[in-house]
Amino acid sequence: MSLIVQKFGGSSVADAEGIKRVSARIAETRKAGHDVVVVVSAMGDTTDELIDLAESVSTVPAPREMDMLLTAGERISMALVAMAIRSLGISARSFTGSQAGMITDEKHGAARIVDVTPGRVREALDEGDVAIVAGFQGFNRATGDITTLGRGGSDTSAVALAAALNADVCEIYTDVDGIFTADPRVVKKAHKINRVTSEEMLELAANGAKVLYIRAVEFARRHGVTIHVRSSFNHNEGTIVYNPTEGQTVEEPIITGVAGDLSEAKIVVVGVPDVPGTAAKIFTIIANAGINIDMIVQNVSAAATGLTDISFTLPKTEGKKALAALDGAKAELSFADVVYDDEIGKLSVVGAGMRTNAGVSAQLFTALSDAGINIEMISTSEIRISVITSDADLTRAMQVVHTAFGLDSTEEAQVHGGTGR
Ligand code: ADP
Ligand code: ASP
Ligand code: MG
Repeated sequence: MSLIVQKFGGSSVADAEGIKRVSARIAETRKAGHDVVVVVSAMGDTTDELIDLAESVSTVPAPREMDMLLTAGERISMALVAMAIRSLGISARSFTGSQAGMITDEKHGAARIVDVTPGRVREALDEGDVAIVAGFQGFNRATGDITTLGRGGSDTSAVALAAALNADVCEIYTDVDGIFTADPRVVKKAHKINRVTSEEMLELAANGAKVLYIRAVEFARRHGVTIHVRSSFNHNEGTIVYNPTEGQTVEEPIITGVAGDLSEAKIVVVGVPDVPGTAAKIFTIIANAGINIDMIVQNVSAAATGLTDISFTLPKTEGKKALAALDGAKAELSFADVVYDDEIGKLSVVGAGMRTNAGVSAQLFTALSDAGINIEMISTSEIRISVITSDADLTRAMQVVHTAFGLDSTEEAQVHGGTGR
């Protein structure tokens, strides 16, 4: 008998039909003799709808109240799933994040899990119940308030519970058959990957592959949790995300996958003096505003003027804040202008085999140039190359790069549900 954590995303519990379907699946696992802990997300696009609702009553909703509102989404799912399972003759009990012992720091909207004390979940299992836990939420001891873990955070709830309960596997059920070589909604010829290392999955998740939330992958990597991403719409085997053990030789494809991200914007600080300290000043101002940046490019200065441009990318959601911070420091930075562009897309190719294979960048840039797609910025890590294109070019860029690296499947990828929102 094993202990299995099963997490069902919003698209899997989108309506009553979905709730009944996943409940039957949970009952099946329980009947096979396993202990089952279930983590659920809010139904369908409930979280987005609640955010829209909050923004329609307040321009800047208070973070504490936003968390109170959003956690309601997962509570609806947990109670309905528990009822549906009970109606199948299996005993089940639901728990909010705080009842399940998900202790976090106090940062509303982006709280980090600091401890998991799943005493009540363990008790429920010992009494033969299936435990259903509301994902995405926790509790801060100092403030006594409810928190949320950030969008997509139910994945983290599931992995954290799996680690705390020493589960055999953490199954993440979603609306596609596993992790694909690219988002199957964007690249129809993407194919399912059977196994991927947590290192590569971290890079994919950090660069737009929202099938797994980055913090969940980090958590699993740190605590040695095996993740199995699979569909809740069929019984196909999905994708195993694993940590290769020391010395284990892993067959490393040169390119494992392609990811796209439309959530970033670009700022160009034009005409700053090309002298030591300029970049330090700009990025201190940005950091002091609490903004995380991604790529940075500094141009060669025009010899005649001794001036240069510094460009960087940041989340679109931080755009206004960054512009205000730079504007406030105009005298100190003595720039000529600041240009803001939020019509950009980021394409990344990820693969551990890049470490030992030359020519990946050349192949990437050639594929983009053959398609007439302009590259605005480039950055690399050991196992990733990212480029900024215009947002309008991103989909086509992903498709041509997927083909160029020989990743195309002959069959069209299936998407079983969800709206892609
Ligand atoms: P859930 O509601 O189950 O949490 P999400 O919408 O968060 O589901 O994640 C699943 C979606 O992730 C898929 O429908 C797909 O469009 C998207 N996705 C992005 N990149 C990938 C990828 N590389 N492999 C599979 N799915 C991906
Ligand atoms: N319901 C939350 C969201 O939409 C958490 C999750 O689904 O993982 O972001
Ligand atoms: Mg998700």
